[in-house]
Amino acid sequence: MAGPSGETATPVRVLLGPGPSSVHPQVTAALAAPVLGHMDPAFIKVMDDTMALLRQVFQTHNALTLPLSGTGSSGMEAALCNALEPGDTIVVGVNGYFGTRMMEMAARCGARPVPVEADWGRVIAPEAIESALRRQARVKAIAVVHAETSTGVLQPLEDIGRLAQEHGALLIVDAVTSLGGHAVAVDDWGIDICYSGTQKCLGAPPGLAPITFGDRALEALAKRQSKVQSWYLDISLLRDYWMGSPRTYHHTASSPLVLALREALRMVLAEGLAAQFKRHLTNGAALQGGLEAMGLKLFAQEGRRLSVLTAVRVPDGIDELRVRQALLNEEGIEIGGGLGELRGKIWRIGLMGYSSSKQNALMVLSALERALARQGFELSPGIGVETAERVWKMMDSLAA
Ligand SMILES: *Cc1c(COP(=O)(O)O)cnc(C)c1O
Repeated sequence: MAGPSGETATPVRVLLGPGPSSVHPQVTAALAAPVLGHMDPAFIKVMDDTMALLRQVFQTHNALTLPLSGTGSSGMEAALCNALEPGDTIVVGVNGYFGTRMMEMAARCGARPVPVEADWGRVIAPEAIESALRRQARVKAIAVVHAETSTGVLQPLEDIGRLAQEHGALLIVDAVTSLGGHAVAVDDWGIDICYSGTQKCLGAPPGLAPITFGDRALEALAKRQSKVQSWYLDISLLRDYWMGSPRTYHHTASSPLVLALREALRMVLAEGLAAQFKRHLTNGAALQGGLEAMGLKLFAQEGRRLSVLTAVRVPDGIDELRVRQALLNEEGIEIGGGLGELRGKIWRIGLMGYSSSKQNALMVLSALERALARQGFELSPGIGVETAERVWKMMDSLAA
């Protein structure tokens, strides 16, 4: 197939990896609207709408809630570089790849990151955070990943939120993969800075990082002795653009991406947050039931598994990459491999946003069955799909 300029047309994929997820046609259509100037009153209305919708999804009253230009990692960088000054101590939960990335970014801010580690695949114990807080003289912030996309673990946050308040430290939370798929209650859980990405459970294309700052974070910002070292991600400058009266030019925000995000957020809220979480939960449980019935082992600690992203161990004797290639080339399905120390050892299957459907859960199970059977993996044909159907029905009737 040749496109208008003669090159091969972009293939259509079903995106069931760790992100990006597939985008609903209604959101794709919003991308195609005419480009608006970044100071056009019509665009300013879109910005206001988007900020209001983001507050609902983050479950917060924080005024300073906006989408940064940049992917999820720009949210991580913005959270850390606005919160931290050279010499500050930050306690970082490290139980996967993204916690490790936070350590690296905090160090580049000139801060002193103190890791609190857990094995990959397990949650960080609040007691371990507490003992780190006791050992350090003054801790400016605690940073944790809510949904560790590298391992499939969901980190409980309420106890850590309480510790942050007790010790006068800010709580920074990475909700890149969780927002829109699992509950993220910024105000109720005492989260001071929370960031996300658009291409996971929110179901928009990659390119923006929603972020929110609470009152305690704003107080800390006001007390800074030094300027935020990133001009582009300095939230005070961004606030003058997104919320100032009049708005002050800072950079050229991408109107197509913001329009697509607004549409995706409207769809999330039209479905309703509770219904959205239930859909992710049911489809994730069905997938996980099917995988286990096929004789595969899940990587993450039982009882703390994400429903939006499932990490599966690669069985002995199976070529990890060949399975992913078969899915992509023969079925048009993308799943992920392992990151860092898990490279070659796990697959990561995402059911996020528009990609989280019963149909996709069943499709990836049967595709995986075919790819595994071809490599001589023994399983009883159809068991994955049958089990997933049964789990799905059971969960659905339980909730009804
Ligand atoms: C995907 C992801 C990121 C990075 O987001 P990018 O959009 O790839 O920059 C950060 N944290 C977590 C937990 C993620 O899943």
